[in-house]
Amino acid sequence: MDAPTAGDTGPIVVAGAGYAGLHVALRLTAKLRSRPQVELTLVDRHDYHQVLTELPRVAGGTRAADAVRIPIQDMLATRVRFVQTQINGFDLAGRRLLTGAGPIDWERLVLALGSRPNDFAIPGLAKRTLSLYSASDAEQVWAAASKALIAAAAATDPEQQRRLATVVIGGGGATGVELAGELAEVLPKLAKSHGLAPDRPSVQLVEAGPTILAGSSPQLIDKATKILSDLGVQVRTNAKIAAATEEGFQLTDGQLVEGGVFVWAGGLKAPELVADSGLPTGHNGRVKVDQYLRVLDHPQIYVAGDLASVVDPGTGHVLPPLAQVALEEGETVARNLDAELNGRPLEAFTFHNKGFVVSVGTHRGVADIAGITSGGHVAHLLKDAIEWEYRQSVKHLRGWDPVPG
Ligand SMILES: Cc1cc2nc3c(=O)[nH]c(=O)nc-3n(C[C@H](O)[C@H](O)[C@H](O)COP(=O)(O)OP(=O)(O)OC[C@H]3O[C@@H](n4cnc5c(N)ncnc54)[C@H](O)[C@@H]3O)c2cc1C
Repeated sequence: MDAPTAGDTGPIVVAGAGYAGLHVALRLTAKLRSRPQVELTLVDRHDYHQVLTELPRVAGGTRAADAVRIPIQDMLATRVRFVQTQINGFDLAGRRLLTGAGPIDWERLVLALGSRPNDFAIPGLAKRTLSLYSASDAEQVWAAASKALIAAAAATDPEQQRRLATVVIGGGGATGVELAGELAEVLPKLAKSHGLAPDRPSVQLVEAGPTILAGSSPQLIDKATKILSDLGVQVRTNAKIAAATEEGFQLTDGQLVEGGVFVWAGGLKAPELVADSGLPTGHNGRVKVDQYLRVLDHPQIYVAGDLASVVDPGTGHVLPPLAQVALEEGETVARNLDAELNGRPLEAFTFHNKGFVVSVGTHRGVADIAGITSGGHVAHLLKDAIEWEYRQSVKHLRGWDPVPG
C-alpha cells in the first residue's frame, strides 16, 4: 500500500460534474469542512448537471429537457469553486488542466468526464444517426420523431407514410430498450394529433448480438421482450449494421432497414481528449486505474465513473458504464482524497451491485434485484423511485459551507 501524504493542501480539481464528479465534489465538501485552506474546484462545460437516466423520457416527449438539467450552483456550497468551461487537454507534468478559461492548477485531480457514443467505425453511422447522451440529444430525438410524423401525415402513399413514421434504434442495451418502449407508447398518440392513423408509426430495435439486454438474466430478457412485443416494437437480433446510408441501416446479411428517424444507442467510448492525454487506457479508451481508483503510474490523479476502467474481481470483467457504479466510485474517491489529507490508508474500491432496473414504455419495466426478476408496473415504479431518490440525495448532499471564523 502506498503511503499517503498527510496534510497535502494543494488544490483539488474535479473534472466533470456528472454522476461521479458531482458526487465527489458534494461528498468532499462535507469532509473538508475543517480544512477551509484546501481549494476545491469543479469544472464542467455546462452550468447544469444532467440526469441522464431520464433521457428516454425526454426523447419520448413525456419530460421537458430542462427538467433533467439541474443547475450546478443550486447544488454546491459556496466553498466549492465552479468553473464552467470546456476542458481541452492535460499538462500532466505541470499538473494543469488546460481549459477554455485558461490553465487550472491541481495538486490532486479527479477525472470524471463520462463517455461519448461509439460508432465502432461503422461507415455513415455517426452522420446518419442521432444519439442519446445529453438533454439536447434527447430533445432532438423527440423533435425528429415529431417532424417525421408530420411528414408522414402529409404523404399520400401508405408505404411512404409507413417508412417516414418508422423510428429505427440501433443497439438493444438498456438505453435502446428504454427509448424503444417509450416511443412505441407515445408515437400512436402523436400520430393521431397530426392527423395520421395511430397504427402508422412503428419502432424497430436493431441489435447485433443474439439478445437484447445482453448480460442480463434470461428471465429479465424474456419479460422485456414480451413487453416490447406487446407495445408493437419489432426487435431484430443478430442484425449487424454494416453501414448507414441515406436509405437506412444496411445489415451485413444484405437486408436494408428503412425508416424516417435513426438513433444510435449501440455503444460508448471515452472522450477524445483522454485518448490524446498520455494516460494509460484500456477497453473503449477508458483509463486504467489501481484498486484505489488512481491512474496507473499517476497516483495524484483519480478516475471515477464511465471513464474509469475498473475490473470487478468477482466477475473478472470491467464494470459497465452505469450511474450506480459512478456514484459508488465517486464516494470512494472522496473518501480516499480525505484519507490522503489525514494520513490514513487508502480504501480499495468494491462495487455493491444494487440490481438492474429498466423501464419499458411509460408504465411498465423489468427489474432484477437480489436474484428476483420482476416485470410490469412495479418495476416501472421502482425506476421512478430510484430517480426520485437520486434527486433527493443530490439535494440532501449539498455540501456545507465552512463555519465562519
Ligand atoms: C439514455 C441513458 C440512460 C441511462 N440509464 C441508466 C440507468 O437507468 N441506470 C444507470 O445506472 N445508468 C444509466 N445510464 C448510464 C449513466 O448515465 C452513466 O453511467 C453516468 O452518467 C456516468 O457518470 P459519469 O460521471 O462518468 O459521466 P457523466 O454523467 O456523463 O458526466 C460527465 C460530465 O463531464 C462533462 N464533460 C465531459 N467532457 C468535458 C469536457 N471536455 N469539458 C468540460 N466538461 C466535460 C460533461 O458535461 C458531464 O457533465 C444511462 C445513460 C444514458 C445515456
